[in-house]
Amino acid sequence: MAIARPAWRASTCSRSGSRFMSTTRAICRGRKLIRSYKRFAAIAAAVLCSGSAFAQSNADRIIDYELANSRAYETLSHLTDNIGPRLSGSKNAGLAVTWTTKTLRDWGLNAQNQAVMVPHWVRGVEHGSLVSHNDQKIVLTALGGSIATPANGITADVIEVASYDELAKLGRAKIAGKIVFYNRAMDMQMVESGQAFAAYSEAVEFRSTGASHAAEYGAVASVIRSVASASLRTPHTGAMRYDEKQPKIPAAAMTTEDADLVHRLLAKGERVRLHLVLTPKTLPDVESANVIAEIRGSEHPDEVVLIGGHLDSWDLGTGAIDDGAGAVMVMETLRVLKELGIQPKRTIRGVLFMNEENGLRGGHKYFDTAAAREEVHKHIAAIETDAGAAPPVGFITTLEGAALSRMQIRARVLSRIAPIVFTSSKHTGADTSPLTDAGVPGFGLVPDPRHYFDFHHTPADTLDKIDPKALAQNTAALAALAYLIAEDGL
Ligand SMILES: [Zn+2]
Repeated sequence: MAIARPAWRASTCSRSGSRFMSTTRAICRGRKLIRSYKRFAAIAAAVLCSGSAFAQSNADRIIDYELANSRAYETLSHLTDNIGPRLSGSKNAGLAVTWTTKTLRDWGLNAQNQAVMVPHWVRGVEHGSLVSHNDQKIVLTALGGSIATPANGITADVIEVASYDELAKLGRAKIAGKIVFYNRAMDMQMVESGQAFAAYSEAVEFRSTGASHAAEYGAVASVIRSVASASLRTPHTGAMRYDEKQPKIPAAAMTTEDADLVHRLLAKGERVRLHLVLTPKTLPDVESANVIAEIRGSEHPDEVVLIGGHLDSWDLGTGAIDDGAGAVMVMETLRVLKELGIQPKRTIRGVLFMNEENGLRGGHKYFDTAAAREEVHKHIAAIETDAGAAPPVGFITTLEGAALSRMQIRARVLSRIAPIVFTSSKHTGADTSPLTDAGVPGFGLVPDPRHYFDFHHTPADTLDKIDPKALAQNTAALAALAYLIAEDGL
């Protein structure tokens, strides 16, 4: 860290020849030292707040380079259009590991694979129709991890609830033998005010645990309203998990339009019967890998700033916003640093995590390996990018109070890209959560979240949703922040 020497200011204490010199010299020297110390402290504080001029100027270079020469979109285009959907355990997920490893190596980086066993769930046929209403089609999709229905499907009455309290009140007498329909919409006021992730967290609980709650009261299947902030009759999938204490029942998500249809019919007091066919399979676990590459630190190579996104995606779309974009930002950050010949004092390690969507096995594998090597505390920051690639608006971070304010000042160079705001949050990303739970400071890149859940986990998560300019802006923000922390520390 370069610290400017404090300039001495002429003062009465520097005059010589005073008749009181002998008696005042000691006092003057003391005052001078105090003033000197105060100036030094002020400058040191300013430098600590703002980071070194050297780091700021390199961050500028990184931003300039990425905004003018980004290859992020080209890389994402291969991942999404050429390789396609990348659900854990699938052939495509394996191809994504191979291709990203090779590409990073072609860029002169030392990419390695960290082997990890992942689940292998395969979607089958999915079909829904209202046998009570002229076999109208219900557009739905199986939730990841769901078991299958019998081959000829399930036909049962639908009962609607909007909370677990309602479910409990209805009880076994009303629920047994039926298909439970969880109908809770995302809070659109929250979404539109920029709190889309909080709205998602509120609405997603039925997707995760609704099937087992319904099974507790004897339901034969559960169907949720898609967790969506917009819909063109596209169902949103996502992971669900079974409570081992309850019977396993099939679980699906229908589009918001179909949820509204079923709701309207039930509101008329009509009996609604749904025929549901789902044929997913859970196959044996498959060996896959996290892809890891780094720019070694010049002074403290054992200290690591981790940047991570996930390589796997859901199978319905091609995982452009979730999270091909994030994976590519990580790759591109390493490429840019390599290309510019910028080597920070600490290591920047890029990790393309496997299996974020339906298991988080890659995130746990990375953490467990670091823990076994006693390297967790060597991670000085973990920055995750798993929130799409709309124009960047800031970072969430586990930093609070003065540390948060300091970071906002230090990262002021990022305001050239967009008005980047740092906001405190306990959770800054799923793959890095084992690290942040262990006390590693976390950061999460936040692109404008207002339309993320329009496409998230749907067949519409495709490359056309990505604006190349915004992708480059996000990459520039990620790369510059990672570099500033790696160069000047946290
Ligand atoms: Zn994701």
